[in-house]
Amino acid sequence: SFEIIFVGRSNVGKSSLLRELFGAKVRVGKRPGVTLRPAHAQVSDMLITDMPGFGFMSGVKDRKQDIVKDKTVHYIEDNAKKIKLGVLVIDGPAFPQIVDRWDSRDQIPIDVEMFDFLREVGIDTIIAANKMDKVKESEYDPLLDEIAARLGLEPPWQNWKHIIAPISAKKGDMKALKGLLRDRLHEMKRDDLF
Ligand code: GDP
Repeated sequence: SFEIIFVGRSNVGKSSLLRELFGAKVRVGKRPGVTLRPAHAQVSDMLITDMPGFGFMSGVKDRKQDIVKDKTVHYIEDNAKKIKLGVLVIDGPAFPQIVDRWDSRDQIPIDVEMFDFLREVGIDTIIAANKMDKVKESEYDPLLDEIAARLGLEPPWQNWKHIIAPISAKKGDMKALKGLLRDRLHEMKRDDLF
């Protein structure tokens, strides 16, 4: 079978993004409490997996955040063969500062760790840089360069347009991500979606 996995920190807009992509077909939105289990939805012959949000959650102990990360890693390891595509959702405008804050403590941010991990296990991974509606036109390319650099993708970001998709789930501006998903599915001879 064919699986696409969506991962990201809490509050990056992953639920909004899934709603924009799949509408009511995927059960998303705020789940009550903090769910550790991935949510699945079948869209034609494609399995969509929404992993629980990792990183800071208000009212949640650090230990629980580690559990979310460990469960995510295990799920990906166990299913790496059938996961054909990963989409890592980030909060575009907030991303550089988040990475720098972790760097200053000599720690690798979970986002960056997850990106490296997905690629290490051989999963082609797209970065959905969300909330780009918050960014002024003059700051758009410089921000995306900063994001690319922090992911180990040497700027200019335009060299990585097959990996980085700037979007705004809130404004429904999903062109870049839909384009990349369409390309990947086309390569896998699946032209029916997006
Ligand atoms: P999740 O926790 O990652 O599933 O995030 P949600 O989809 O619940 O969104 C978290 C918050 O970010 C909500 O207040 C959304 O309205 C907001 N949000 C989501 N996408 C965007 C976006 O593209 N732009 C802006 N400005 N806010 C967004």
